[in-house]
Amino acid sequence: MTTQSQELAVSANGIVKQYVNGTFTALHDVAMEVHEGEVVAFIGPSGCGKTTMLRLISGLELPTQGSLETFGTPISKPGPDRGMIFQAYTSFPWLTAKKNIEYGMKIMGVPKDDREKTAQDFLKLVHLEKFAHSYPASLSGGMKQRVAIARTLAQNPRIILMDEPFGALDAQVRWEMQEMMVEVIEREKKTVLVVTHDIEEAIYMADRIIFFTRNPGRIKESIPMEFKKGKRFKQKEEMFDQDGYAQMERKLFAMMREEIVAAAAA
Ligand code: ADP
Repeated sequence: MTTQSQELAVSANGIVKQYVNGTFTALHDVAMEVHEGEVVAFIGPSGCGKTTMLRLISGLELPTQGSLETFGTPISKPGPDRGMIFQAYTSFPWLTAKKNIEYGMKIMGVPKDDREKTAQDFLKLVHLEKFAHSYPASLSGGMKQRVAIARTLAQNPRIILMDEPFGALDAQVRWEMQEMMVEVIEREKKTVLVVTHDIEEAIYMADRIIFFTRNPGRIKESIPMEFKKGKRFKQKEEMFDQDGYAQMERKLFAMMREEIVAAAAA
């Protein structure tokens, strides 16, 4: 079940982001509200500003104009309320899986016993208990990404920001990871924003999809996944069986095609 509260995890208004000394507008007049507990996917054609928006929310970059808040506080830099998961695995190669997960907690001053217990718990959640003492180099791509996810979760951020998190994985590992992530989100009740170019992944993981368009980057439509009736599915095939799934996939493909045709004509 989705678990939205009334509290706003993210509130953005009139966001403009320019690069190249103001000569290039990556985002123009973007506004959005994301409720606590909501899972939102950003999709749209390449270059429409999805990653830029995620980076603004992370605080890694600042908007040129507009107001941007997490839980009512203006975003001025990265903070422990937001955890970022990138496509490239970001584990420390010299630490075991468990020590990688403990690392952030150590920096935060969490006592040893507590962080060991938490690391063990998250290793279990991402199905890596047997690999606690393995180093990243000996793990597969999917396993390395599980370590990165567990490490981020162990620091207990309220918002998880994911940028093409499974983009480097092969198809089978990718869907295993999507299902694992849905299980994690259900247990941890996090607010999640995920950038993806994979329509099926966006529909499966998200409660709502924000579709971006480009030139300049802006929001075209915010699309709630009403066909799910507030459910998140443990297995992807449960989603395929739902009335309304095929229509949603078709709608998003058609929107994407429209963008591609417009870009080719420009
Ligand atoms: P998406 O994630 O939708 O593919 P991005 O947010 O990565 O798009 O990029 C949006 C646009 O902004 C692209 O045209 C990209 O080239 C441009 N852009 C992103 N970061 C920078 C930067 N640091 N300097 C100049 N242009 C940038």
